Amino acid sequence: MTAERPETPDTSSVPPETRDWTEVIERGCPECGFDPHLDVPTTGERVRATVDRWVAVLERPRVTERPRPGTWSPLEYACHVRDLCRVFRERLRLMLDEQDPVFPDWDQNAAAVQDRYNEQDPYEASGEIAQELRATADAFDAVSGEQWTRTGRRGDGKEFTVAGFAVYFRHDVEHHLRADVRG
Ligand SMILES: [Zn+2]
Repeated sequence: MTAERPETPDTSSVPPETRDWTEVIERGCPECGFDPHLDVPTTGERVRATVDRWVAVLERPRVTERPRPGTWSPLEYACHVRDLCRVFRERLRLMLDEQDPVFPDWDQNAAAVQDRYNEQDPYEASGEIAQELRATADAFDAVSGEQWTRTGRRGDGKEFTVAGFAVYFRHDVEHHLRADVRG
């Protein structure tokens, strides 16, 4: 137990999001200044550029402190982005390998509680998020030509092309970094 960590980090559930985040693919995001109209083949490069900033976030003191009740701590956001990378890499693989697949569901709030994100070791999380971001960046780097137009859909029926999915993923990583943890 170090001075920076409260004795019992809050691992309770935060309220689920109600905003439809898929609209950022067309419109961008005023909250974080996200520009959706960048060349989609640069996705990997841009995601890779967030690695050092995420690592720096996890080196801060008090990473388990929630800024407000109902908002995740920086550690929880980092663990979320780490796991998001795994989930999105699998969804990308499905879109490339299968014809218009339906993605398996992922309950991100349940994952945060079940896996006790706020009790994870920030040092280990730092290594893991760097590795996951790089692996997902590599996966998007490997996409070429007509693969960008392949499709898949979420359980709620929302359809994605690989190109739209790349924009959506990059926004998630950058939004959490800029707007949520100010990294
Ligand atoms: Zn945003």
